[in-house]
Amino acid sequence: MTVSLPIGSTIGIIGGGQLGRMLSVAASRLGFRCHVYEPGATPPAGQVADQVTTAAYDDEDALRAFGGSVDVITYEFENIPTAALDILQNLAPIHPGREALRVSQDRLTEKAFLQELGLTTAPYADITDAQSLDAALAEIGTPSILKTRRFGYDGKGQARIMTPDDATQALADMQGAPAILEGFVDFSHEVSVIAARSVDGAVSAFDPGENVHSDGILRTTTVPARLTPGQRTDAVLIAARIANALNYVGVMGVELFVTPKGLIVNEIAPRVHNSGHWTQNGCAVDQFEQHIRAIAGWPLGDGQRHADVVMENLIGADMDRVPELAKTPDCALHLYGKADTKPGRKMGHVNHIKRA
Ligand code: ATP
Ligand code: MG
Repeated sequence: MTVSLPIGSTIGIIGGGQLGRMLSVAASRLGFRCHVYEPGATPPAGQVADQVTTAAYDDEDALRAFGGSVDVITYEFENIPTAALDILQNLAPIHPGREALRVSQDRLTEKAFLQELGLTTAPYADITDAQSLDAALAEIGTPSILKTRRFGYDGKGQARIMTPDDATQALADMQGAPAILEGFVDFSHEVSVIAARSVDGAVSAFDPGENVHSDGILRTTTVPARLTPGQRTDAVLIAARIANALNYVGVMGVELFVTPKGLIVNEIAPRVHNSGHWTQNGCAVDQFEQHIRAIAGWPLGDGQRHADVVMENLIGADMDRVPELAKTPDCALHLYGKADTKPGRKMGHVNHIKRA
């Protein structure tokens, strides 16, 4: 039998951005306390959490104090240094577990893992230098995308190779970081599945959302997505297969390309995901609460969609629209409490609700 975390326990959250903030809010609604660990000053999650530790990820004393003060540890981003995890894992359970982090921290490991599961990915190759890039381009062809293996987000650390002439510049753009070449997938649109897996192995997925990016940043997620019933089932089964293979506990985002030949897995995120923010106003239990339930050993909640939603990210100067949006019916605003508005910075999001 699963032992669930008693109400009043403290959940440790690594990373204090907007995802950590919304996790803290969800945790507090269930009667938990949160302790956020974040190197940067004035983290958005710090405004709503019970406790904040401001320290670097290599500050061993701070990590030990943090780990000793919490009952379970989770995170809002996947690039936590291995040495920090080595310390923390002796102090409290970490959910999702180390294997999910190991696989998703490195695009090369991730692609190999997905293919081993029998899932389809873009063709890819490990790139270490100009020779391996030339060889990979001969095999995979153009257009293709060179990506750093680690630390990429919002389209950063990527260079498109439209013709072989672009190869030298693309490699220079990687600034010596290990990279992966991916063949360009000719997709009709992009969708993602937000799935949750509980401690006792139950899996529940939210309805897939359709994602539109611009300049490498997610702009909107729309539910329902344009998918046939068969594709919708495939999408959910893919997410469940990944979650089961990782013995996963928590919420995960799986990004998919929709092509005439079927669904192709782009990447997985071992955490709550921007494309799942619509669930806050489209479901009784949203992705943040679902994640807290899972890592606390609770049963998963009701994630059925009860409305059509368009989630729109408010990026940079989009914040100027807030007064207008605040007056608009069927609009739910979620602002992150970030002091400085910068171009390309996610400042909040708005869920436009169409009642079903
Ligand atoms: P995010 O943080 O938004 O998830 P990321 O930096 O991790 O982004 P990816 O998801 O790999 O990067 O790529 C960002 C976007 O670039 C994808 O959503 C897709 O639109 C496009 N893209 C990435 N890889 C490919 C590919 N192999 N073929 C076609 N388009 C791609
Ligand atoms: Mg992505």
